[in-house]
Amino acid sequence: MSNSKLNSEQLSQIRESFPFYSHSSSKGSPIYLDNAATTQKASVVINCINELWITGTANVHRSSHTLANKLTRRYEHARDICKSFINAKDRREIIWTSGATEAINIVANSWGMKNLSEDDEILISEMEHHANLVPWQQICERAGAILKIIPINKHAEIDLTALELLLNNKVKLVAITHISNVLGTINPIKEIVKRCHQSGAKVLVDGAQAIAHIPVNVQQLDCDFYVFSGHKCFAPEATGVLYGKLDVLEAMPPWKTGGEMVKTVDFLSSSYQPAPLKFEAGTPNISGVIALSEALIFINNLDRKALLEHEQHLTQLAKQKLLEISNVVLHSVADKSSSIISFSVNELNAMDLAALLDEQNIAIRSGQLCAMPLVNKLNSNGVLRVSFCFYNSTDEVIQFIKALKQSIAILRD
Ligand code: PMP
Repeated sequence: MSNSKLNSEQLSQIRESFPFYSHSSSKGSPIYLDNAATTQKASVVINCINELWITGTANVHRSSHTLANKLTRRYEHARDICKSFINAKDRREIIWTSGATEAINIVANSWGMKNLSEDDEILISEMEHHANLVPWQQICERAGAILKIIPINKHAEIDLTALELLLNNKVKLVAITHISNVLGTINPIKEIVKRCHQSGAKVLVDGAQAIAHIPVNVQQLDCDFYVFSGHKCFAPEATGVLYGKLDVLEAMPPWKTGGEMVKTVDFLSSSYQPAPLKFEAGTPNISGVIALSEALIFINNLDRKALLEHEQHLTQLAKQKLLEISNVVLHSVADKSSSIISFSVNELNAMDLAALLDEQNIAIRSGQLCAMPLVNKLNSNGVLRVSFCFYNSTDEVIQFIKALKQSIAILRD
């Protein structure tokens, strides 16, 4: 087992950056182990929103008064920060969205409707979140294309041999998660992208579960699209990013239309701004976007290697302790995995267990985890999921295990 690289002083310092751990009524706060659903918000994010709303709001890219210009500059500077964070080549490759879901919907509706014809194929994996599944069902239905599923193997990994067999010149796009929100598996994206490109398919990577935990370098991955949500990396809800290679974005039509994404408009036709504004119709989440960039700076300033090791330590400890409990079935068994663990307890209902844990002030997720096809295969009654972030402690893992044992005992009584 890896050792925690954070001593208690370092962990306290990290926790000081999250008011959740220090606010006046935090005594009653739960042990929060549901970080795959959303993360707690960093002080820099809260302070940024506060500062922006107190010092005066204005719309961006519209009015030309001083306050509006200042906000436009900050909004666009946030784009530069995000560009550097994921190592995009060009700032125009960063599109602000309301989250990973909207980002995937933009690609499906814009790129999909332009590039898909009857009998073309889209591949997704068996471990996709509904956000990277339902939009492709919809688009395939509208375009007459076919959705095919890359299976996973018994090690909770994408079956790369099956992918190989599925790839052919009809496959136009492969949409795949970087880290599974159910299994925690970290997929070999670089390798997958290389193989898909050889057969002429574009690749969209769903980075919702990766962005806060592992460094993301889109140029190195060479993916065509990468999406993530702000709320899973300490930033506000309803913020997110669609990264796309510039030439791919330039060839895509807008999806949402309206104010600010246009160059010229008359009553019968309009011309559009180039990327990224072409995809940012309407008033954006200005404060959210700027606060998201603050979250990215915050993450960059942390010792990411040490934090990842700490998360790995918590995860391995929890897995080991879970396996010591009789009748626990671990679903997160991939060699390369993040701080997400899904499991079941034979003959016990996942919702009941989660409710009993909640009574003991432990917040975890249960049910279908927005990945119904996969979870139904693992356990038709739903699973339990515990997901750690670097602000969690060893002691919290121990308390979770103790509470779980107690909950199991209550249900078995
Ligand atoms: N993909 C994955 C892997 C996720 O875990 C989630 C959120 N649970 C999403 C996409 C959707 O993110 P959002 O709801 O923030 O758009």
